[in-house]
Amino acid sequence: MTKVKAAVCHKHGEPLVIEEVELRAPELGEVEVKIDAVAVCHSDISLWQGGFGGAVPAVFGHEAAGIVTAVGVGVKGFAVGDSVAVTLIRSCGTCPSCGQGHPTVCEEPGDPSKGPLSTTQGDPVWQALFAGAFAEKVVVDQSQIVKIPADMPKDAASLISCGVITGVGAAINTAGIRPGDDVVVIGAGGVGLNAIQGARIAGARRIVAVDMNPAKLEDAKAFGATHGVLAEGKPFKEVKALLDGRGADAVLVTVGVAAVYDQAPRYLAHNGKIVMVGMPHFGSNASYSPLVMADAGQKILGSKMGDVVIKRDIPWIVDLYQQGRLKLDELISGRWTLDQVNEAFADTMAGNARRNVIMLNND
Ligand SMILES: [Zn+2]
Ligand SMILES: [Zn+2]
Repeated sequence: MTKVKAAVCHKHGEPLVIEEVELRAPELGEVEVKIDAVAVCHSDISLWQGGFGGAVPAVFGHEAAGIVTAVGVGVKGFAVGDSVAVTLIRSCGTCPSCGQGHPTVCEEPGDPSKGPLSTTQGDPVWQALFAGAFAEKVVVDQSQIVKIPADMPKDAASLISCGVITGVGAAINTAGIRPGDDVVVIGAGGVGLNAIQGARIAGARRIVAVDMNPAKLEDAKAFGATHGVLAEGKPFKEVKALLDGRGADAVLVTVGVAAVYDQAPRYLAHNGKIVMVGMPHFGSNASYSPLVMADAGQKILGSKMGDVVIKRDIPWIVDLYQQGRLKLDELISGRWTLDQVNEAFADTMAGNARRNVIMLNND
């Protein structure tokens, strides 16, 4: 057991409390990682609000990077001192989904109630999303981490672990965007900007960003959008007009708002596809016309964490960043200490942030 400082949620919606929790040593196949940087993702906000369910006390935070400080038995390919990205994608490697090459939807990811965290009194603390990275250290499964270059800044690296792979992966792995495709990305927040740069890397012809915030449409253009349309009234009309009246080959919905899903088919060209990335809270439903969509050969695809295989996809994302072909530093709009986690949450909820990163520097 090691005592680590963490941001603990005792009640959904109430400020996180910075306090010490107990972290057990890594067991079979697990690694301990000292967290250097962890970004605030909208899923952390939803978890904190109780929108995804889950127990308390809990430690959130899942978009992280750091340095391996201990390895359990059976760990292969990682050693103390390695720089790593830490993701929430825990995969068994042997279930049907893993066997089909889709570890983000692993069917046997392990028992989330048997996490490595407990209070100093010995009561269990929920390690949210198998990560619990708003903390000085984490213990995670070796399937969740990928080595990154030691000289890569950890704040930039942390972003890859969730928002970047989710957005870039949705464009490249799920949508399968091809050179010449017309693409609409709804929502130009952290994930949306990455969907835009994924579409750009894939060679999309026109990339139309749709957002309620004019400043975010400007951000979108800096990341590769060719057009920006304000989400007011019926934005699909303006978007369709921009795309020669035909509509988009792919519409990536990166906001978790059911009303946006209701409108998404309206942007589509024949044979186009909707990619569902943003996750509304439990109980939200969207509707569409099966007749219209079937008749036009249109598709709806769910994309969990960009359908990535982290040990395949993170290395090339790192390379494109180091070659200047994929933006990471520009995604960071604020840096905070762990003690400022509630302020970082508030700034993220205010809606103007790209990504807020918590820097730990806990040497
Ligand atoms: Zn996330
Ligand atoms: Zn599996």
